[in-house]
Amino acid sequence: MQGANGYSILFEPVKIGPVTARNRFYQVPHCNGMGHVRPQAEAAMRTMKAEGGWAVVSTQETEIHPTSDLGPYAENRLWDEHDIPALRLMTEGVHDKGALAAIQLAHNGHHATNHLTRAPVLGPSDMPIDTPFPKQARAMDKSDIRDLRRWHRAAARRAKEAGFDIVYVYAGHQMTLPQHFLLPQYNNRSDEYGGSLENRLRLTRELLEETREELDGHCAVAFRFAVDQMAGPDGMQAREEGRAVVELLADLPDLWDVNVSDWSNDSQTTRFQPQDGFQVPYIEFVKQVTSKPVVGVGRFTSPDLMASLVKKGVLDLIGAARPSIADPFLPKKIEEDRIDEIRECIGCNICVSADMLGVPIRCTQNPTMGEEWRRGWHPEVIASKGHEEHALVVGSGPAGLECAMQLAKRGYDVTLAEAGKEFGGRALRESRLKGLAAWKRVADNRLWQLQQRANVQMFTDSPMTAEEVADLGIPNVFLATGSQWHRDGRGRSSLTPLPVQDMPCFTPDDIMAGELPPDSGPVLLYDDDQGYLGGVLADHLAAAGRKVILATPGAVASAFTDLTLEQARVQTSLLQAGVEIVPLHLLHSADATGAALACAYTGRIRQISCASLLMVTSRQRDTALFDALRADYGDRFTTLELIGDAASPGLIADAVFAGHLAARNFERDPAAADAEWFRRELISLNDMGGA
Ligand code: ADP
Ligand code: SF4
Repeated sequence: MQGANGYSILFEPVKIGPVTARNRFYQVPHCNGMGHVRPQAEAAMRTMKAEGGWAVVSTQETEIHPTSDLGPYAENRLWDEHDIPALRLMTEGVHDKGALAAIQLAHNGHHATNHLTRAPVLGPSDMPIDTPFPKQARAMDKSDIRDLRRWHRAAARRAKEAGFDIVYVYAGHQMTLPQHFLLPQYNNRSDEYGGSLENRLRLTRELLEETREELDGHCAVAFRFAVDQMAGPDGMQAREEGRAVVELLADLPDLWDVNVSDWSNDSQTTRFQPQDGFQVPYIEFVKQVTSKPVVGVGRFTSPDLMASLVKKGVLDLIGAARPSIADPFLPKKIEEDRIDEIRECIGCNICVSADMLGVPIRCTQNPTMGEEWRRGWHPEVIASKGHEEHALVVGSGPAGLECAMQLAKRGYDVTLAEAGKEFGGRALRESRLKGLAAWKRVADNRLWQLQQRANVQMFTDSPMTAEEVADLGIPNVFLATGSQWHRDGRGRSSLTPLPVQDMPCFTPDDIMAGELPPDSGPVLLYDDDQGYLGGVLADHLAAAGRKVILATPGAVASAFTDLTLEQARVQTSLLQAGVEIVPLHLLHSADATGAALACAYTGRIRQISCASLLMVTSRQRDTALFDALRADYGDRFTTLELIGDAASPGLIADAVFAGHLAARNFERDPAAADAEWFRRELISLNDMGGA
């Protein structure tokens, strides 16, 4: 197949020090909420990437010592030899599928809180730790630095023993000691580890040299380095010290893995950075300075862009975290000329949110992500159908589309009915809002796949009644009828409608349908939901020329977006767009003269002059069809199931997952499904004799 589609350059092997990657697809380290807590789940997820064609598959950051305890987050751990077997699960799985395994060793300095170990926090200087907690890092003295070098060397030795092919020294995301030493904002030392760039780089150089010495030609040494902080002259810049670092170290590592920092800059969402390959301008100089291979990231999903970056000499290896999460089989699909089948990352960072919550990774586009081990799900394979023949899916939002597509893959005859003029439900509706255009990919990918299949019939303009559904005579019915936003203000802060009179009142559904509040005065957007949508709508309306006041019981706008690394950008962009943010206030009432907001703590009332209200509070599940079918025709159906937002309003990722789960569970023994939701990694009660 290689070469058939002009992407053969992407399938050339690349030598990385003593090892060789079979092609140019490189899954860079990324967090996943499994780590040392759920090692079998992590191994299975990484192994799936190797099966999907990635030539290198990396761990997430791996704590090398108890003084770098990242708990409660579930990262990898290599404190001593007791951690080796868990990591070996991954290397064996990855090797079995023909890929190289890489490990990102990390000492997180003052970014580690050490809540579990109660160890002192270490840093280049005396300074508060990285999170709001009354605790400080102490400036490492010479003996601390010697200890760190010894710990790193020992961790490299254990990594080799665990079977890794590539071992990282990690200076990125403003999360690790080598980078903390490098950046003057953290390093105010006056000894040979502070001051000049050479001095600030000394620790990194020592770690690289000692890691190489320890690995002794058995494994490659990679250096992950953030060349730019995206802070202009206030931080490290690719054109200045970033470049100087690459010049000073040039050929010392076997591989340069380059990006920007911090994490919110590296993993930007499409909402704030729609451009795939957005890091190229920062990292394109690196290959001119070193003769060693270079890997870079930037949400690469287009094979044309990937091939052109290799041809132009910008990258040797195409790095990916999120595109490999959305589609673990991306390399295979390019290799086999199945490019239309690629599930493109939409850049929503729901994957990141799981890590932030310490639960297994999930993905809006790929509902099998994180479920490889515990549910045995494969992103490309699903069991064939049982004895049932035909299924009807009503509603074509993310839940309905995913359910219909997977049922069709299983071999059922599938009928999909959609009331609206277009397929896509909320994926389509939300993609019409400012910044969310890429979210349409959720619908596009599934629609394309459905259209390829002969066993699928799809109808728009088909609002189904209970009688019509019953008349179709299809015994298996999945209702993905979605939800509508409440107009009356009920939500998290009040389960009953709010007293609003003589004031035009809009919902997110109105705005997504193209309506705009009158421009006779400000629109008060009441965000009691505190998810992403309130901020998106405020931005959308401001761009349409409306004066927007965003009031929320939260302390900040769109509090949820902290989990997707976006909150600071949300708040900044709203303020820059002229949106007035009123935090810590509840909507009390409204009438023709304006709205009354109540302070969340004191209840003190503040009057707001506005011409309309936009309620972003909570949603009403659309169960009318389900209720009618169950009441009037229940005995006619073998399966009658409510899925997606109609069953439980949540994220688009939740709706896709629900559609997928329903398709997988169809014709599965319900008792078995109920008895075991998924496999769990239970704590062994045996005395392991270690930490
Ligand atoms: P989800 O996120 O659960 O997929 P959405 O709100 O995105 O839900 O999509 C629900 C879809 O169901 C909408 O496109 C809506 O038009 C459609 N729908 C709702 N009721 C009916 C019905 N009675 N017949 C056909 N389609 C329906
Ligand atoms: Fe991409 Fe969103 Fe999936 Fe993360 S959750 S990989 S950002 S589609």
